[in-house]
Amino acid sequence: MVILLGQSNRMASRDIAKQVRPLIGLNERQAAANLNYREKVYNKYREQGMGEVKARERADKAAIKYAGKQHRFRAETIVHTELAFAYNRGAHMGVAQGIADGLMGRCAMKWSTAGTNRVCSRCLALKDTIVGYTDESGVTLPPLHPRCRCAIIYDEVAAPRRIDNKPKPPKPESKPTSVINPLLIPATVPMITPVVPPNPKPNNKPETTNPSDNPQQSDRDEKIKSALQTKMAELKLKGEIIFPPPELDFSDFTFDVAHTQGDKHPHDVTEEEARKFITEAYFAIEKRGANSYNFWGKEGATYVQPNLKRIRTAFKAEEYAPPYHELIEVYENALGNLQK
Ligand SMILES: [Zn+2]
Repeated sequence: MVILLGQSNRMASRDIAKQVRPLIGLNERQAAANLNYREKVYNKYREQGMGEVKARERADKAAIKYAGKQHRFRAETIVHTELAFAYNRGAHMGVAQGIADGLMGRCAMKWSTAGTNRVCSRCLALKDTIVGYTDESGVTLPPLHPRCRCAIIYDEVAAPRRIDNKPKPPKPESKPTSVINPLLIPATVPMITPVVPPNPKPNNKPETTNPSDNPQQSDRDEKIKSALQTKMAELKLKGEIIFPPPELDFSDFTFDVAHTQGDKHPHDVTEEEARKFITEAYFAIEKRGANSYNFWGKEGATYVQPNLKRIRTAFKAEEYAPPYHELIEVYENALGNLQK
């Protein structure tokens, strides 16, 4: 299997995705988006007075190019999600083996999200809750959905079951220690983490901390947010700054090709780019009335309507209205000042 081969060769998941690509097709939603796109391009050329055959040829060519981009996005989703399955099951088996060998005790299984506040609502609902214990079967493991980055923290709640006859050493009255699943998958750059089973030594200290629990981080976030909100008020822009931007599971959102690739800018933003603008956004602006989250970043902006599961529109940074360029600048300055 390609994913297994890739793992043993320590390939980046992006490279594995390249190998997986020829093996899969587009999903239904992507195929529909592609048809729409081809139609749009065809109509545009026809309106410009091009002949039927020539316009069809051009449209086919554009659609094939677009399919390549859709294909790449889908391959990455599949590989990322399959690796998340493998990591989490592997970690779970490692802990189970440690318990069976008497190296560690029964553990509570705590759900851990990828860190920041940018986590989808389903995963956020589980954040830091005990989803089960290691001696129970059928406990849900991540990933919960495509591109899920969650992991389980194994919290030892009982002493290891002793399996030899040696006299018991004096028991240090230590509180239960945590074993952090080291296999958290990073946010935007899915990379292979070497598969290391969780260290079963009882004095193991957590190696990583959840960034959202870090007071310095949240203090920094607050400063950036308030700088942005102040600028919004000054520029009389409507909406509320969400920083860090919300993490939505937008994998099954539809992409409104007609709106995004309208008559004015028929080729401007592809679906892949629109999705990238979300994952790489600096901040989001919530427009309550429109039930819309508008993601703004260095390269472009994407508006989504989570209640309709829809990506409404997207455009590149060169089309930003001047006040939004100012907002981006405020963000970059705030970040720069705080990093000094
Ligand atoms: Zn998740």
